[in-house]
Amino acid sequence: MIPTESQDLGHFVILGGGTSGWMAACMLGSIFQDSPVNITLIESADIPTIGVGEATIPPFLQFLQSVGISQREFVQATSSTFKLGIRFEDWLEKEQHYFHPFGGIGRDLDGHDFYQIWQKLCREGHGSELMAHSPAAVMAGASKFIPPEQMPNSPIASAAYALHLDAKLAAEFMRTSAIKFGVQRIEATVTGVEQHECGNIARLLLDNNQIVAGDFFIDCSGFRGVLIEETLATGYDSWAKWLPCDRAVTVQTRSGEKAQPYTVSTAQDAGWTWKIPLQHRVGNGYVYASAFCDDDRATRTLMARVNGDTLNTPRVIPFQTGVRKQIWNRNCLALGLAAGFVEPLESTAIHLVFKTLALFLQHFPDKQLDPILQRRFETRIRREYEEVRDFIVLHYCTTRRDDTAFWAHCRNMAIPDSLQEQLEYFRRTGQLLLESESLFRAESWYSVLTGMGVNPATYSPLTNALDTDKLAASLSSGAKAIAQCVTTLPDHEAFVQQACPSVARRSASQ
Ligand SMILES: Cc1cc2nc3c(=O)[nH]c(=O)nc-3n(C[C@H](O)[C@H](O)[C@H](O)COP(=O)(O)OP(=O)(O)OC[C@H]3O[C@@H](n4cnc5c(N)ncnc54)[C@H](O)[C@@H]3O)c2cc1C
Repeated sequence: MIPTESQDLGHFVILGGGTSGWMAACMLGSIFQDSPVNITLIESADIPTIGVGEATIPPFLQFLQSVGISQREFVQATSSTFKLGIRFEDWLEKEQHYFHPFGGIGRDLDGHDFYQIWQKLCREGHGSELMAHSPAAVMAGASKFIPPEQMPNSPIASAAYALHLDAKLAAEFMRTSAIKFGVQRIEATVTGVEQHECGNIARLLLDNNQIVAGDFFIDCSGFRGVLIEETLATGYDSWAKWLPCDRAVTVQTRSGEKAQPYTVSTAQDAGWTWKIPLQHRVGNGYVYASAFCDDDRATRTLMARVNGDTLNTPRVIPFQTGVRKQIWNRNCLALGLAAGFVEPLESTAIHLVFKTLALFLQHFPDKQLDPILQRRFETRIRREYEEVRDFIVLHYCTTRRDDTAFWAHCRNMAIPDSLQEQLEYFRRTGQLLLESESLFRAESWYSVLTGMGVNPATYSPLTNALDTDKLAASLSSGAKAIAQCVTTLPDHEAFVQQACPSVARRSASQ
């Protein structure tokens, strides 16, 4: 009998060794470590990684867990700190700030949504700060931290957290893990790509004369998209009309002040600056719109804001907000910057790498590459990108600022229909149009809407069936319990130093 050729994909080739390349290598490597499937990653010593991308959101911890990486070892190796959310300064108006926390806000009562109850009480003279009911916001405000899973059944149990990490150290750590899983690494530059007659990618030609053939290719080559765009000409949908920022200038500084457990995002004349505290240094950047600000001015704005000695020369990074017309095209999946980029305001890019990989695994093909899998995958990942886009546009379009041409533009610009519909629904009902799988849960939308001064006309009339005094007492005791519990927690920096001190910082000080 002639053996039939296996239809399983036998060789994956990953092009690129930035955060997305090594995340892909870890995920595929951990799945196929005991199988005959080969995974090869090619990275160039001559083409640098983007080197930024240092704030994450809570699902990143699931990624670490899913590939068997110890969170503590990762934090130590990447000089990470903990992140409980983002503090937004000057977005609604100058001198105003608000917090977008991770995790729960308040508790539903008898099946009634907490936010609806809070709205009802505010209108009936029992107002409280929404953030007083968020364990993560109260912890962040007091610079305290403990992983909430260490305090189950406590008033802070519903908090969630993520990491601030050093992107370069993170890629190095994941590289070691992936190689342990059996991933082959080649250091070389791809100089040519050969396709089969049908158009699928057949092999990559390297500058060291090696030829690497594969069944399936994962393009993690950064903005250029060497495979997805330069080879397969997939096309790109630009979202610049809704998100005008198209450049960033970044600089690293020595840690001079206490590392807070949150990212700071401050609105500037033509965009916003970030401050991300790590254990051994601080990452700073200014994301701006080139139509309203040139590179020199942006660099001056950034440098005027940073504290402490600078550790490198400010670097300008141009980008185009949007997404590929197809993220999976033929036998090629694009990941990370090769797939698309929605600006980094809510630190979603690394998450989208994880989500793309997770969805690809849910729609995993064989050599036939059944287009029905591809279509379903494409619908779902597209929805993810669009949800992130809408949530980020929300921060801009609800501003009351008109003190610069940039902010006047943001106030008046057109917004996506899906966001328009969301805003109208919220303004009229106090409720949201969310799918069960939405990345940004209702708490996130409520935090930003409240912070940006967007208030609904009403709330769910169902809550009128509840006794106002009892509700007020319940909310007040809930907020008190959070506040009291937080006073007993360790200081964020002290927790980091005691539980997971940076290996990089220790070796630097030796
Ligand atoms: C200003 C800015 C701020 C950001 N902030 C955040 C944030 O806070 N949080 C977040 O989640 N994300 C953030 N991101 C996004 C994040 O940086 C990226 O998603 C992440 O780093 C992944 O990058 P990448 O691996 O796709 O690409 P890159 O880092 O660009 O890596 C590309 C790789 O491809 C290789 N390569 C390219 N061409 C070739 C070739 N011909 N041959 C061989 N190898 C090749 C390179 O050597 C490199 O290894 C930010 C991005 C920007 C621009």
